[in-house]
Amino acid sequence: MSIVRVALDMPLSTLFDYVLTDGVAVMPGQRVIVPFGRKQVVGVVMECAANSELAAERIKPVVRVLDEIPPLPAELLTLLRFCSDYYHHPLGATVLSALPVRLRSCEPITLKEALHYTLSTIGRALDLSLVPKRKVVQQRILTALQAGVLSAAQLRALSPSAPTALKALLQSGWVESVSLKPSLTLSKQGLTFNNAHILTAAQQQAVDAVTQSHGYGCFLLHGVTGSGKTEIYVHLMHRMLQQGGQVLLLVPEINLTPQLENYFRSRFPDAELVSLHSGLGDSERTQNWLRAQSGSARIVLGTRLAVFTPLPQLALVIVDEEHDASFKQQDGLRYSARDVAIFRANQRGVPIVLGSATPSLESYYNAQSGRYRLLQLTERALAAAKLPTLRCINTSNAFMQHGVSEQLLTALEQNLQRGEQSLVFINRRGYAPVLMCTACGWLSDCPNCAGKLVLHLQDRRLRCHHCGHQVRVPHACPSCGNADLQPVGIGTQRVESALQERFPEARILRVDRDSTRNKGAWNAMRRQIHDDEVDILVGTQILAKGHDFPNLTLVGVLNPDGALYSSDFRASEKLFAQLAQVAGRAGRADKPGEVLIQTAFPDHPLFRALRDHDYNAWAKILLAERQSAGFPPFVYQVLLRAEGKLETGVYAFLQQGREAAVALAIAVEVYGVVPAAMPRRANHSRAQILVQCESRKLLQQFLRAWKPLLDALPAQKLRWSLDIDPLEF
Ligand SMILES: [Zn+2]
Ligand SMILES: [Zn+2]
Repeated sequence: MSIVRVALDMPLSTLFDYVLTDGVAVMPGQRVIVPFGRKQVVGVVMECAANSELAAERIKPVVRVLDEIPPLPAELLTLLRFCSDYYHHPLGATVLSALPVRLRSCEPITLKEALHYTLSTIGRALDLSLVPKRKVVQQRILTALQAGVLSAAQLRALSPSAPTALKALLQSGWVESVSLKPSLTLSKQGLTFNNAHILTAAQQQAVDAVTQSHGYGCFLLHGVTGSGKTEIYVHLMHRMLQQGGQVLLLVPEINLTPQLENYFRSRFPDAELVSLHSGLGDSERTQNWLRAQSGSARIVLGTRLAVFTPLPQLALVIVDEEHDASFKQQDGLRYSARDVAIFRANQRGVPIVLGSATPSLESYYNAQSGRYRLLQLTERALAAAKLPTLRCINTSNAFMQHGVSEQLLTALEQNLQRGEQSLVFINRRGYAPVLMCTACGWLSDCPNCAGKLVLHLQDRRLRCHHCGHQVRVPHACPSCGNADLQPVGIGTQRVESALQERFPEARILRVDRDSTRNKGAWNAMRRQIHDDEVDILVGTQILAKGHDFPNLTLVGVLNPDGALYSSDFRASEKLFAQLAQVAGRAGRADKPGEVLIQTAFPDHPLFRALRDHDYNAWAKILLAERQSAGFPPFVYQVLLRAEGKLETGVYAFLQQGREAAVALAIAVEVYGVVPAAMPRRANHSRAQILVQCESRKLLQQFLRAWKPLLDALPAQKLRWSLDIDPLEF
């Protein structure tokens, strides 16, 4: 008998046995359609075997082998097995969740051949001087095709109007399309490299360190904002592409991919580049994935899910902004794409570069202890671009209007007069975080959550940012009937309207999740900012990440103090990263930048380190704190979370889980059952247990023993999950 063990998308940690009809052969990694209950589902063959533990009559046959695309490579299956083991997530669910949606469905899939173009017989005989001179783009295409066959992407890179010109050439019969097997295009292509930049000595050293290493090596590229990390990526890519390799580049934000995509295309016009992120349609994502698997896509640019892309020629992995929390998936398979990428590079024996201006403490610690190699860039790449100067405005003795100090208003006014752009950063959207009754002290609580309803004045609503609950703003206090309700605290909308009142002539643009909700909205805004159609930006962290605005010279930061004394031990690490990022937006071209931070604690070491642009000093302080408190990176953690409508049920489950953990008598620290940071959300009570240990190995050993005990506990009407290396509490 030929038995196959199949991974199915089920919340069970087992594989499922099926039998193959005689004469049908499969390989591990191949997709199959199998019966499950009354349905037919797609699964992935993980193993082939001669016999099964099940009785022969109980084993159902495979319905169909899906062989229109090649099987998943063994290397990817190993990676997925590792993730399933390490994150204690069912193997089938892990394998299937790594595939694009289309590949999880029973519908047939084909890899569309990328169209290529060549000169036709008449095209080849054509005298180019006969083409009208004003048809510049047609001329350019014909000249390029004289050198050989080109792909649609290569032609697109010639000019924005290339598609129109190509259409005309196809109609005139001078150019014709040909289909090439994707793998053939690879070796025949030369590689054009538009090398517009000369590397600084520090950049060159970083490039050399990576290219001269052999096999696996993890490099932490720590460079101040504007130090030219992207240029290092480009040069590393060039090296790897020249040698026929594929490059995987992970970024934290979908918003960042279109810019980077255009940039890398302009540098490598004939290397095929695909992007992979959740913003793509199912069909496009599947095609891009298949092009990576076939080896024809040479550069794969994507968000965390791209870490599971099959890449037969993978030669280099880059994780940009490695400290960013969005690399961690917060549900289902709760993986860290950065950590999985490191495992993957190690498995493959290739270098990985983690880039950041403010590395995560975990990575910094690993670089200090020699596990990673540290590459530092301490100066900005453009000699003229100096790091911004930073000043704190002490809010305890400043005159404030709607949360903005008089000093900041004056600075904004001067910047307006100079015709330069300013950014006011506040990490809270809406008008005010809460509405209050001045008579009885009533606050706009969310009825479903432990949070407050945020005042949105634009559409006159109170809205919960946790569960989405919303109501109209009441005319009077629901508790005492008093008509005087006051907004408390500030959000982006309030700052926007206060600034508009103060500077009626200024063009003010608010950038937050509300204003960028519509597709393409943020891209249009970016263009406005670049084209200098905006004087003052008011925005949240969307603005902080990796964007380059050459005319932006002043940054004001409102209200960062909450994070300084937060119960979340990572809050101040995140705040430093965020402020360094947002400060890094100021003065990137030839104009000096200034950053003003409004705080009640101007002497806090965090602000001192920011002022001195001294990440190392700050990291040392934090590491010392973490070491004495026994927090990561000195320990490894796992969080057992549970939530359900019945608070008693949630706590009873966790209590039993805790007793089971203690009874195992393994040398890990098991903490008590505590409410989650958000103890109630969308009418669900939420609580958790933290377990930690200095040894990752011992913690994993504990989890292997604990997980089956948890699986066996009664857990009616509640959901629970294990979060390994949690970032949020
Ligand atoms: Zn009241
Ligand atoms: Zn709510």
